[in-house]
Formats: sequence, C-alpha cells, structure tokens
Amino acid sequence: MPRSLHDLTFSAMERELAASGVKPIHARALWRSLYREMETELTQRADFLMPLRQFVDEGLGDSGGWGLDQPEVVSDLKSSDGQTRKFLLRLRDGETVETVIMGYPGRSTACVSTQAGCAMGCTFCATGQMGFVRHLRPGEIVAQVLHCERALRDGGEPGLRNLVLMGMGEPLHNYDAVMDALEIITERRGINLAPSHVSVSTVGVVPGILRMAREGRPYNLAVSLHAATDAERAAIVPASRRWPLDELIAACRAYGKITGRRIFFGWTLIAGTNDTPAVAHQLAALLTGIDAHINLIPLNPTEGYCGQTGSERAAQTFKSILQAAGFPCTLRQRRGIDVAAGCGQLRAAKKPGNRDFAGPNGAPPTNF
Ligand code: SAH
Ligand code: SF4
Repeated sequence: MPRSLHDLTFSAMERELAASGVKPIHARALWRSLYREMETELTQRADFLMPLRQFVDEGLGDSGGWGLDQPEVVSDLKSSDGQTRKFLLRLRDGETVETVIMGYPGRSTACVSTQAGCAMGCTFCATGQMGFVRHLRPGEIVAQVLHCERALRDGGEPGLRNLVLMGMGEPLHNYDAVMDALEIITERRGINLAPSHVSVSTVGVVPGILRMAREGRPYNLAVSLHAATDAERAAIVPASRRWPLDELIAACRAYGKITGRRIFFGWTLIAGTNDTPAVAHQLAALLTGIDAHINLIPLNPTEGYCGQTGSERAAQTFKSILQAAGFPCTLRQRRGIDVAAGCGQLRAAKKPGNRDFAGPNGAPPTNF
C-alpha cells in the first residue's frame, strides 16, 4: 500500500521532499493545499511550481508510492436534536472507525478514534467489548479531523474549535502515531487547532502519561478513573491490573508537577457501583493535592454490559461532595444516545464472516 502524505509532520514532509530532490521550501504549498484548502485532488495543479508539481504528479500516480487518507463514509447519522453527528468511516484496508462532531452554540468539537477497537477491555465500553483490531496511522487520525472540518465547511458552519481523543481506542497505547497526528492537526500553517483545545483521554497508561510530561506535550490530559480502589477498578477496567492506582496517581502527581497543568479525571457513573456518597469521599481523598477537574459521565448503555445508569439525584449528590472537597466538577450532558454516539458507545460495523467482535460469550478481551 502506498505511504500516505497525511502521515507526515511538516518537518517530515520537508525531509521527504528533500530526499526526492525538491527544495524543502515547497512543503508550504503542499501543506497549504492539504490542510488549509483541504484538497482531495492534488495532481495537475497549475499553481504548484514545477519541482513540487512533478513530485506530486509522479508520487500520487499509479506507481508513485504515495497516497492520501480519504476514508469512505459508510454512514452519517444525526441525533434527533441535531447537535451530534456520527460518521462511520472506512479506512483503506476496510477497517472502520467512528468519528463524532458535537455541536454547541457557536462552536464544535470533534471526537476522533485512535485505534480500531481497543485492547484495554473496559467492561462497560462498546469499543472495549469488541477487542483490539489495530492501531491507526497518524494520517488516519488526521483524516477524521479533516473529514469533520469539511463537513462543517460544507454545512456553512465555522470550523472545529476543540478536539478530544475520546473515540475508539486508547490514545497512549498508540503514542507515536497520536503525537504525530496532533502535531499535524495543530500546525499553524494548516488546520491550526489550538493545542490547549486538544484533549488526550487515557484509561491510565502510566508510561504514556509520564512521557507526555517529559516531552512537554502542550495538550490537555484526561484520565479515566471510574473507581477509587484497585479491587473495584480491576472489576471494570482490566488495564488497572497492569497500572495499579498508586502508580497511576503517582504519575498524575508527577505530570502535574512537571507541566503545571490541571488534569481532567473522567468518571463514568454506574448505579450502585461507583455513584454512592462513600465512593465520592474516597475519590476526593485519592485526589487530594492534585489540581484536578472531575468530569462525571452518566453510563451510556452498551450491548455487552448490564450495569445501569444511576439517578440524577445520585449524580448531583456525588458532584456536590466533590465540590465541597474543593474539586471543580462537571456533570456531563448525555448526548447522541439515539444514534449510539455517546461516550463508550462507539464500535465498528460488524463485518460479516470476518471477526466476532463481541468476543467469546460476550466476554471482554484482556489481550493488551
Ligand atoms: N480510551 C480512552 C479514550 C476513549 S473512551 C479512555 O478510556 O479514556 C472516552 C471516555 O468514555 C472514557 O472516559 C470512558 O471511560 C468513557 N466511557 C466508556 N464507555 C462508556 C459508557 N458506556 N458510558 C459512558 N462513558 C463511557
Ligand atoms: Fe478502551 Fe477507553 Fe473503551 Fe476502556 S473506555 S475500552 S480504554 S476506549
């Protein structure tokens, strides 16, 4: 399969051009057409100067060795309130991923996938229930953002303001590809999303959290916690056996110290399991001293998990205990549920005769 131009960061593009005898200065024009104009047809461009034009015409030709990431839209669903739009996109090898645009007054947020499936096996998550299929390349992550930008542009709406890596997959399990993709997406001469408007959400991959801090990655970090003791967490988040809470919380403290950034903690509220006042107090104690913002997400239904969404009252009580302990806390609105575009509801289309995504007996995989 040809390499994708969308996989290249700006400096990598300069290097590739130089390796083909094209001066790196031409990277600007190519970058602009890929990421400002968001072109899908780059050949026969009269506005490209000759060496670049030749590189593109030959490179993107039948035997040229280069290609673009242009996923095919398999489905495009709008929620009944018109505020959430979910795309199922087919990648070059036939795998599919979901991408969501969430509209708010005057702004939009894209929620993109970083893997086909996920190896972390959280019991309540539809992506976890399907198991791991493969990592996405940087271009496949970038292409989801481009797809959203084009959809907004075609609808006469302003471009994306925020990006969250909260679609299918565990971003820090695919670290290098994710960081290249984010470098491309935030590049000033192109899509130009503000790094402070990008959030990387992790189930708690400790080495990845520490690496983000060490490398000074300028994005927001969200850590999906869901439980305040190892025993309770292991029952719903199998990955916690690999990175227990003491290690995870130590990594969060180190991250906060090195970066000076606030950490966002995600907490999916499951009735009677982790939405009680006692658990809220445990959580407050666990996070003592961390500059933390807690996002509470009411459980969305998935086929493979029988836990229930709790009451609004339990959620409000949980929230007020955390706030009284000094933590800013947001209770997320449930959105896009009617088109299964809510948190944790994303999964690939079942491909007949290919793979049983539900796993044997519906059991969550633990093959990370
Ligand atoms: N793998 C990363 C990012 C993708 S999941 C992570 O886990 O953080 C994005 C968020 O959706 C996570 O906070 C996750 O816990 C939450 N989530 C998963 N399944 C859910 C469900 N059924 N209902 C509500 N939130 C869910
Ligand atoms: Fe993977 Fe996140 Fe779903 Fe857990 S919640 S299975 S880490 S996508």
